[in-house]
Amino acid sequence: MQGLMMDTPLTLTMLMDYAANVHPDSEIVSVTCDNPRHRYSQRDAFKRVAQLANALTRLGARKGDNIGTLAWNDYRHFELYYAVSCSAMVCHTINPRLFTDQIEYIVNHAEDQFLFIDVMFVPLIEQLQDKLPLLKGIIVLTDQTHMPETSLNNVHCYETLLSAEPDTFCWPDINENTACSLCYTSGTTGHPKGVLYSHRSTVLHAYASCLPDVFGMSKDDVMMPVVPMFHVNAWGIPYSAVVTGSKLVFPGPKMADGQILTRLINEEKVSLSAGVPTIWMALLGYLHESGETVPTLKSVAVGGAACPLSIMEGFDKYNVYTHAAWGMTETSPLGTFNCRLDRNVLGEEAFARLRLKAGRPVFGTQLKIVDDNNCELPWDGVAFGSLKIRGPWVCSQYYKLEHNDAFDEDGWFDTGDVATIDEHGNLQITDRSKDVIKSGGEWISSIDLENAAVGHPDVAEAAVIGVYHEKWTERPLLIVVKREDAQLTGEQVLAFLEDKVARWWIPQDCVFVDALPHTATGKLSKKDLREQFKDYRFGDS
Ligand code: AMP
Repeated sequence: MQGLMMDTPLTLTMLMDYAANVHPDSEIVSVTCDNPRHRYSQRDAFKRVAQLANALTRLGARKGDNIGTLAWNDYRHFELYYAVSCSAMVCHTINPRLFTDQIEYIVNHAEDQFLFIDVMFVPLIEQLQDKLPLLKGIIVLTDQTHMPETSLNNVHCYETLLSAEPDTFCWPDINENTACSLCYTSGTTGHPKGVLYSHRSTVLHAYASCLPDVFGMSKDDVMMPVVPMFHVNAWGIPYSAVVTGSKLVFPGPKMADGQILTRLINEEKVSLSAGVPTIWMALLGYLHESGETVPTLKSVAVGGAACPLSIMEGFDKYNVYTHAAWGMTETSPLGTFNCRLDRNVLGEEAFARLRLKAGRPVFGTQLKIVDDNNCELPWDGVAFGSLKIRGPWVCSQYYKLEHNDAFDEDGWFDTGDVATIDEHGNLQITDRSKDVIKSGGEWISSIDLENAAVGHPDVAEAAVIGVYHEKWTERPLLIVVKREDAQLTGEQVLAFLEDKVARWWIPQDCVFVDALPHTATGKLSKKDLREQFKDYRFGDS
């Protein structure tokens, strides 16, 4: 027998309506490229969202179109999140830190029809414009006063477009499974892959992220997402803050500047924040040097990479609780979250050990760890295996890529992470089976680096692994076997890579070995290499 309850679709339009009716006075404060402090209410925000929806229609954008954004965290990007998705279009957030050929690939692969870009990305798109034939228009996210001189064709000024439009819009009815946003990940090998979120997955994720043992947001909180809006929808915070009515503070383009973050936290009374470890190093470094404090900040969520104990202890000094969390672009991203643990009840040793773990599954996600034969391993905190996940906000396949080995036939997604889970459900990431390194929150392909290194005539074999680095969490270490009798220094190999990969990909160090470990099938055994170099530390970290 079927239940007799309404099948009301879970859509972002519902969130928007709720905010406009229930907490219209909640504030949204932003630093932008053209304004050091912009503030308005959610009421005003959603009026502009309607203006933007009208402008999109006037530009010729249609339902189902992908609309790209290259922008930092601010109120205009927030407006795009809602206007695009609630018009039944797809808000495709693009990471401006990717290589230009990756951006070109992504915009073309997604068949983006319009691009909304911050002023600072105008030169980048001028350079790429000829290679983006499908684009019908480019909108610069600024006002007429700050519009730059540009060689771009079909270029518009965002504020000029909006000012010509009414602030109401007839929002379409949307099926909850309709796509609402798109984000490409380069966390796997090969081309970046698109993760296409739906209205339903986004609303459910927003619900879950507000839970007390997750972000724990309330109407009285002030939330500052320092995780970029181009990275998994800023971990869903622009949606969850609308569910709760929390004040939102967007830090704009200078998110890695400890002084700017401190000023925002103190002046706007930020109580919660979220971001990757590298950002927190910058904030803590500034607090330490300046002697300033952050009395309103209660807690920060740290994800995207393992959170080092030094960050947690750094925040302890300021009475800020640090929550480690694990997730992926493919999981919207919330997978696990480490709730507030009681130091006094647990004792110092257990507290220090447990807080470093990535936490327990957020209700809605299911996790398992499996061995090489896909047999499930026990949750005993010791057995480690491939981490798999499923749930209503986990990707079921990549965009325009029907088959990918990461998706099991029985409906689980293989994360490429290796983990243990203890008897209380606490996840600990112990290794990564995917051949990528995460440095300061951005991916580096070890395979591309290895291929570039073996191009040197004196290199017989090369391997690259990620090694802990205090500032960047992980940096590449290049391990080389020289050709017989070759006279080769590490500096020479690294210099050889300079015109072959991006500067920030150049390994931190190069070491020589007589032989590299291989698996039975002849592949490089990264697992053995990581074990061999587990105590290795870079000179500068
Ligand atoms: P992305 O899709 O770029 O967000 O990257 C997701 C990946 O970041 C995961 O698959 C992990 O490899 C890594 N990651 C995220 N959170 C953690 C964490 N708490 N500990 C260790 N690695 C993490």
